[in-house]
Amino acid sequence: MTTAILSALAEEQSGLVATLQQPQRRVHAGRVFWTGSLHGHSVVLALSGIGKVAAATTATALIERFGAARIVFTGVAGGVGDGVRVGDVVVAQDYVQHDMDASPLFPRWELPGYARARLACDGALSDLLLEAAHACTASAHGLFDANFFRTAPQVHHGLMASGDRFVSAAHESDQLRTALRAAGHDVLAVEMEGAAVAQVCLDYGVPFAAVRTISDRADDAAHADFALFVQTVASRYADHMVQAFLQRL
Ligand code: SAH
Repeated sequence: MTTAILSALAEEQSGLVATLQQPQRRVHAGRVFWTGSLHGHSVVLALSGIGKVAAATTATALIERFGAARIVFTGVAGGVGDGVRVGDVVVAQDYVQHDMDASPLFPRWELPGYARARLACDGALSDLLLEAAHACTASAHGLFDANFFRTAPQVHHGLMASGDRFVSAAHESDQLRTALRAAGHDVLAVEMEGAAVAQVCLDYGVPFAAVRTISDRADDAAHADFALFVQTVASRYADHMVQAFLQRL
């Protein structure tokens, strides 16, 4: 059974490729896929690309071409929920596409043809990611630069939102969160790919789970915070998280 590990950014994937056993590099649909084994599991590693369409193409290729039986996403995201801080970890319970709006034909955020706005993640895989996230954050001071974080990293579990926009202004993030919350969607974090992968996985009946570390607060400082986080700690976070997850699989 092949497990696909999707990363959003090259910085997050480099450590995983370096530790891959029997690595084989294959190019398909203009993307690089690495097959091999990690911690005794058959895996395929890929970069999702940025944004929903790129991520959907990658997810489809992982399933159709590389026989992925489950897909796990690791990446970074902007924190929008109360108390979701830079350095925290969010394991997705479900996803909404915050830029989906076919109203008045369909209720806002509902995915036409799916009769729902929210796409659930696989419970069993998410539980393993939660365990992995708790293990990683508990040892955070040994693994990560302690000075980077003002508080000990927390693990959250809940709704994540994806859309084709880097949310980088406090008013944008407030607006997005308030509108979604009024419809009963209480979002913890925002990113650009997860909901697309969740939709492809639903179509194919492939279990999907996602973990995102918070690189920024999707506010006016998001651009600088994001860049610093990706350069400094994102790859170590991803390496440890995936290792802890695969050891529990
Ligand atoms: N690395 C690219 C830009 C990446 S876009 C560059 O610098 O050229 C940001 C990535 O991080 C996306 O993959 C998205 O999923 C995630 N992300 C982090 N913070 C985000 C935010 N505030 N809004 C939207 N996506 C965010």
